[in-house]
Amino acid sequence: MRQTKQLFTTLIISVIMVVSVSAQDYFLKNKAPFEAKIPSPEVFLGYPIGERHTRHDQIVAYLTKLSELSEKASIVTYGETHEHRKLVMLTISTKENLTNLNELKEKHLAFTRPNETPTNYDDVPIFVQLAYGVHGNEPSSSEAAMLVAYTLVASNSSEVSDYLNNAVIFLDPTINPDGRDRHTQWANQFRANPLVSDALDAEHNESWPRGRTNHYWFDLNRDWLLAINPESRNKLKWYHEWYPNVVTDFHEMGTNSTYFFEPMKPIGSKDPIMPKENYEDLNDLFAVHFKEAMDNVGSFYFTKEAFDGTYPGYGSSYPDLQGGLALLFEQASSRGHLQDTDYGTISFPFTIRNQYLNSIATLKAAVENKITLRKYQQDFFKSAVKPQAKNSIVAYEFGDAFDMNRNKAFIDKLLIHKIKVYKKGKKFVVPVKQPQKRMVQTMFETYNKYRDSVFYDASAWSVSNFYNMNSKGLRKLTLGEEITSTNNLVNVSKVKQTNYAYILDWDDYNTPAALYYLQSKGIKVASAFKPFSINTNEGDKSFNYGSLMIPISKQTKSSEEVYKTVKKVQVKYNIPVYSVNSGFSTKGIDLGSRNLRALKKPKAALLIGDGVNSLEAGEVWHLLDTRVHMPITKLQMRNFRRASLDKYNTLVMVSGSYGQLDSIQIQKLKQWVSKGNTLITIANASKWVIDKKLVKETLIKKPKDTEGDKIIERSSYVNAPEELGRERLGGAIFEVDLDVTHPLGFGYHSSTLPIYKNNKVFLSPSKNAYATVSKYTKNPHIDGFISDKNLEVFLKPSASLIVSQLGKGRVVMFADNPNFRGSWYGTNRLFLNALFLGNHISVPKARN
Ligand SMILES: [Zn+2]
Repeated sequence: MRQTKQLFTTLIISVIMVVSVSAQDYFLKNKAPFEAKIPSPEVFLGYPIGERHTRHDQIVAYLTKLSELSEKASIVTYGETHEHRKLVMLTISTKENLTNLNELKEKHLAFTRPNETPTNYDDVPIFVQLAYGVHGNEPSSSEAAMLVAYTLVASNSSEVSDYLNNAVIFLDPTINPDGRDRHTQWANQFRANPLVSDALDAEHNESWPRGRTNHYWFDLNRDWLLAINPESRNKLKWYHEWYPNVVTDFHEMGTNSTYFFEPMKPIGSKDPIMPKENYEDLNDLFAVHFKEAMDNVGSFYFTKEAFDGTYPGYGSSYPDLQGGLALLFEQASSRGHLQDTDYGTISFPFTIRNQYLNSIATLKAAVENKITLRKYQQDFFKSAVKPQAKNSIVAYEFGDAFDMNRNKAFIDKLLIHKIKVYKKGKKFVVPVKQPQKRMVQTMFETYNKYRDSVFYDASAWSVSNFYNMNSKGLRKLTLGEEITSTNNLVNVSKVKQTNYAYILDWDDYNTPAALYYLQSKGIKVASAFKPFSINTNEGDKSFNYGSLMIPISKQTKSSEEVYKTVKKVQVKYNIPVYSVNSGFSTKGIDLGSRNLRALKKPKAALLIGDGVNSLEAGEVWHLLDTRVHMPITKLQMRNFRRASLDKYNTLVMVSGSYGQLDSIQIQKLKQWVSKGNTLITIANASKWVIDKKLVKETLIKKPKDTEGDKIIERSSYVNAPEELGRERLGGAIFEVDLDVTHPLGFGYHSSTLPIYKNNKVFLSPSKNAYATVSKYTKNPHIDGFISDKNLEVFLKPSASLIVSQLGKGRVVMFADNPNFRGSWYGTNRLFLNALFLGNHISVPKARN
């Protein structure tokens, strides 16, 4: 018995050894000898890397094990995701470097402080951040991360010792754990034995919403600038503590592709605010090592042809704006364990090996170019505070006089990027000359000239416009007190008890959330459809369209109970609330006016599922969950047929193909709206309701040209992608003229408003004079690329927001997405107006 057991153990060990040896040959060639006490990922997990997909908690457990067993590694948790998964960073270097890490950090940071001039470039190890897996269904890189960690911690080769002596490596195995686990579960549950490589097999075709994005279906690789999600917010905090010199960003692309490493598309990557050394010199110093790593194993790759780093919110562009070198890698995806391609099959281990080899090559290049990288970072920050040219803009002033919570949200954004902000009376000021000068430019500058017209993503990102901050450049600098925290930025005076009525200011960003809270507590709230002035506990005050009124005598609760709830909601949302003892106004409507309409509580559903744009759907869900704290039913398309819509008074449809809704379903939708309900459509869904004739509106058509007779100019075949790409609308900012007297325009004071457009939905203004809520202005361009044809022929004559009566109900059509990337605080209000006031809108019959 005993003998058998022994034999069995020996057998297991030898099996492990055999597999390990092969793994070493395949992944870890030339990295031996390894320390015996450190388990390889294969020994720890019980299967060789690449055999299946590793869950995030297993990855964290492995890295934790390494930090426990070795003095060359230590682990920190720098945050957690929406779904409470850990975000971890494994720091790896020599024992000595880790012991002296605080000292090294101080020396390193001295190079990022423009007022210091250290010259010990070679003295300090280079800080490299190896970051993996921002897109959850691009799984190869996080598997490679475990092999990289093992190599660096366990290998005693002279090569690895050299890296550890000269570098501190910060390894983030999974930037997007929620998305990763969504995909991991999918790939493992459909894994077959033997593997099925047929591209049509379920293993290779994830279901909606797929694992690319995070919990709220946000693309975290766009969130570095906007800092909406905890994954990016915590990473940014870490980032501004360490300022790494090199940062990697590993991705996957189409299965039939090969491998991509930088340099990127030369024209596209030229950024007007970036030192050209970044993309002209540094990239090439690294590319020689990537090329060597790939050539050595016979892997094919391409460079220069694709991808641009212009949008500053990528993982491969944000660090470039912090004096580092950010590197994009793209591996053809096996999406699953083995998949057919035009060149035979692509296996998961193959994709992992390429990511592993380029991780190691990154380290090699970073160590070899330590002095250059460090000098570069020093120059980068010093150049930010250089004296400015005469007459240039020295600061930006911003601030909304009516909405402190929106100001606060924008200032939070500035502070997270370490931009210095000062108070100046009721406004705020950001000087240009400061270490974060390039982030200041990113936030406030707008552009209308581009070297390239085909963008991988947005071409406009002046975040001050996202927040409708009405900013302007100053040529003279006066600074007040520096703002270092947003904690005490909003100071509202506490509401006093009354037995008559309370009034809430609808202009504040947080008031819709307060309204939902009050409604959910059974408090009756009315909205003022006309403005008024009235005597309050703070004297005579004027109230804008949409102001909320809580009439005490109309409640079923006692005055005391109502006061308690109002007090609570004010503390919760930090909004202006006033009390009045009389309904008689000093100007405008009295509080008993018919123009104060008792509001219905929204009971809302959002259509989701196959064919629906998950990003736009996620933005609606995120807004309501995290800011309005209002539930919305995520109604799957496949349940639409059997769902009783009568439970809802509001339905939201974002961009999507909606092919699953046949004529019977469309009829069902129409009947439901006609009963008095509200359908809100965004972007392509607005086109859909017009195409399906739910409403009698139209789209802007191309002016009729005599196509038959017209001589079509010839063009070279090779130019087609560039020429056609120019007619896309990747994302730009335009100005609209908003009817602030329309319920959908309530809460705004100015009729001009920046909006974000990244589609080609061009609504014709309605034939009804009262139905076009917003329309592009005469010169609408604010920021970003748009072709002349799109601007002149389509955009200028079109409407951005219209509402159409359908029976007793209405359809609210947004041409543009008011909730883009969770960051359009300036236009969120339009959407929330549709949600909270939509059921009270009827379109007046048109004049004749
Ligand atoms: Zn990706």
